[in-house]
Amino acid sequence: MMKRAYKYRFYPTPEQAEQLHRTFGCVRLVYNKALEMRTRAYATQRRSISYAESSAALTEWKRGAELAFLNEVSSVPLQQALRHLHAAYAAFFAKRAGYPRFKSKKKSRASAEYTRSAFRWRDGKLTLAKMDAPLDIVWSRPLPDGVVPSTVTVSRDAAGRWYVSLLVEDPTVQPLPPVDTAVGVDAGLTSLVTLSTGEKVTNPRHEQADRRKLAKAQRDLARKEKGSANRAKARLKVTRIHARIADRRRDHLHKLSTRLVRENQTVVIEDLTVRNLLRNHRLARAISNAAWSQLRAMLEYKAAWYGRTLVTVDRWFPSSKLCSDCGQLTESLPLNIRTWQCPCGATHDRDINAARNLLAAGLADR
Ligand SMILES: [Zn+2]
Repeated sequence: MMKRAYKYRFYPTPEQAEQLHRTFGCVRLVYNKALEMRTRAYATQRRSISYAESSAALTEWKRGAELAFLNEVSSVPLQQALRHLHAAYAAFFAKRAGYPRFKSKKKSRASAEYTRSAFRWRDGKLTLAKMDAPLDIVWSRPLPDGVVPSTVTVSRDAAGRWYVSLLVEDPTVQPLPPVDTAVGVDAGLTSLVTLSTGEKVTNPRHEQADRRKLAKAQRDLARKEKGSANRAKARLKVTRIHARIADRRRDHLHKLSTRLVRENQTVVIEDLTVRNLLRNHRLARAISNAAWSQLRAMLEYKAAWYGRTLVTVDRWFPSSKLCSDCGQLTESLPLNIRTWQCPCGATHDRDINAARNLLAAGLADR
């Protein structure tokens, strides 16, 4: 059965909010201390620290007087923080991500993950460890009947909204009947993505307008006096616009990824590692690293849900310059050239041609 996360807003009581803030703080502290320990061990002894070792260190920290307050929150989110750090290192060693970074109170999303032993699930009510009352969840869409969450993640975004995400084994997710279509998805220069079918998918509606509002709100913020009440108000406004842009972007990517996976048996995308993105300013400009990895993650799990195949191509060939009709390479193709003609007679839109080459490479790889 497929695992699926259901995310809802909730409204904590003042006591719950306080307990959660404290838990977020402890999660951040444990993550950062373990990261510091691992970094130091590697820098001074060329030694890698295992999850078990960092877990033993956590037990020591909780025994000391200085960090005794770690005992006031559930131990499970703290253990999970160590697991997340371990996963971040694994991704780093596999060259899928950069070196793990410290969590910042201001910039990182505050969250805490609870596994089965740290919450109670009864009659559709969720009670977290160290709390007496269940969370006041807004059930904006129904949870499938009879499911029991295996993991619960509580978070608070920069705009102050609280969320709970329930990971369940979902009986409603079934593989779709097979189809024989395939599509290449290219991070285009002029659009969000370009498909090998010739379709160009643009950014979410209102994004341009939201970005203009954001720029104005940021200018307003910069003009306010440090520490003033007006500055705090202006900051909240900036944060709210950021949150709205992120929400609309996520909705847009959800619709796009669902459609691509439903309509195609095979979806081919480029393996854009952080390294590739940094090298390739062209892509960095068109689609942000965050949006691309969000789209890729959605395609990955939806392909798994629906019995589809996602192929990632590590693309080092000059896909824009290669004619997708005859395979000839054109000599140079400056960025401002949007369409070009191959000696074979084919006329190409730069991005569509790249998406077609990506599709061919992905199908050849399989
Ligand atoms: Zn050609």
